[in-house]
Amino acid sequence: MRVPGFKVGVGMVGLWAAIAGLSAWHNLDMLDDQDRQAALTRARMVVTVIQTTRLWTAKHGGVYVPATEATPPNQWLVDPLRDVEINGRPFTKINPSYLTRQVAEMINADERLNLRLTSRRPIRPGNAPDAWEDQALVEFEAGLAEKLELVAGASGPVYRYISRMLVEEPCLKCHAPQGYQVGDVRGGLSVSIPLAEFTVVSDPIRRQILLVHGLGFVLLAGASLIFLARLRESWLRLDAARALQERMVAERTTELSAANDELARSNAELEHFAYIASHDLQEPLRMIGAYAQLVEKRYGPALDQDGREFLAYLSDGAGRMKNMIDDLLAYSRVGRAEASLADVSLEDLLANALINLDAAIAESGATVVRTTPLPQVRGAAPLLVRLLQNLIGNALKYRRPDLPPRVMVTAERAGPEWVVSVTDNGIGVPAEARERIFQIFQRLHTKAAYPGTGIGLAIAKKIVERHGGRIWVEEGPAGGSVFRFTVPAASPDVASTQQGRP
Ligand code: ADP
Repeated sequence: MRVPGFKVGVGMVGLWAAIAGLSAWHNLDMLDDQDRQAALTRARMVVTVIQTTRLWTAKHGGVYVPATEATPPNQWLVDPLRDVEINGRPFTKINPSYLTRQVAEMINADERLNLRLTSRRPIRPGNAPDAWEDQALVEFEAGLAEKLELVAGASGPVYRYISRMLVEEPCLKCHAPQGYQVGDVRGGLSVSIPLAEFTVVSDPIRRQILLVHGLGFVLLAGASLIFLARLRESWLRLDAARALQERMVAERTTELSAANDELARSNAELEHFAYIASHDLQEPLRMIGAYAQLVEKRYGPALDQDGREFLAYLSDGAGRMKNMIDDLLAYSRVGRAEASLADVSLEDLLANALINLDAAIAESGATVVRTTPLPQVRGAAPLLVRLLQNLIGNALKYRRPDLPPRVMVTAERAGPEWVVSVTDNGIGVPAEARERIFQIFQRLHTKAAYPGTGIGLAIAKKIVERHGGRIWVEEGPAGGSVFRFTVPAASPDVASTQQGRP
């Protein structure tokens, strides 16, 4: 895996910037919405009050107020009763339109709100719409009832609102001559409120949002970068450790494989030497044996007691040496022989081994039992026969003097292999010697007590290891010993048929 670097850092900072930016944008947008909502509410309220007042005035057919300089007679009002005198004082009629204009003038004196009555067909030309109003009035004709928009004003952004004014019954009095009918769009009440009216409240919140988000971004991005730096540091340390470990493993592997090669080479040399030596020793040994026999036969009667005894030692020594050489040859052959593996029946292997041990079995009065049927295994038949022969042979040899030998051969499946056990009721192997006896020439007894060369179990071990297995000895149930070894199970089809059997 790659160590997180500069790009990841930039990516993380970018991610936090995007998150903080998005969140800030969302909050600011909500604030804008809030301002807009406030503007709409305020504009609607103004319009409602004005509309109601207008309606009230229209319902009364207008109201009379003293005619003054500030409130001169309405030149656009065509009404015979426009100007009257009450108690000698001139009064003039205020219709809804005039009322709106007068109230609007008062309202507009305060710059925070601007109110205006407008129509596309005004009686008073001053009520003609500006471009924005005209557009809204066109939309009203198409069914729109009100409109709010933030537009650029002379001194900053302004919320412009306009509400549709429909012709009602009382309006017809003045407007019927223009051809209006009840329900027609007569015009609109237009309200303007500077945006500043609302931002005065919302701007501090805006600033707060920006500050909080900015701070949050700096903190999170900083923390992420610190975390990344730490991560990078430990990653690099880990990488270095891993590289070191890999280097060490590679070095050890090379060393081990060199040592293995060396071991295999010296083993092969040793085996070769053992083979050559034993092979070459056979001939002179045979000569010693043969001539000892010849001397005994021809000159035996001429020799005295000592001479015959010495000759007997000579023959015995030659005989034992022959056994040792045979065993050594057998040992070196196990390593040298081509072991061609095949599926073989352990049953058959055992039968062959028992034939070879026939004399020993008869002589010792032994019983050999086995679980039936013994399985199919994969191995080299001659080697496996020799293995069984060595183990059963030992079971017969290392028997108790008072007990006829009883040997049991069993097999248990363990994953891809079988564990074969040879159990006896003999003298057993002391716990401390259970490893050692598998080494060549290792014996626990004198030749007088039990004859032997100390090679049989070394051969057994070699055979098992050539099959990729293990061999070991345990204490037997009846005080004797159990020699166990593993051997690969036969190819799957054979093995499964075998396992399927009761
Ligand atoms: P050998 O039998 O020629 O001495 P082995 O290599 O076959 O050589 O056996 C090595 C030693 O292991 C034997 O000397 C004996 O002490 C011990 N041993 C082998 N098999 C048995 C057995 N079944 N019961 C008790 N001891 C055994």
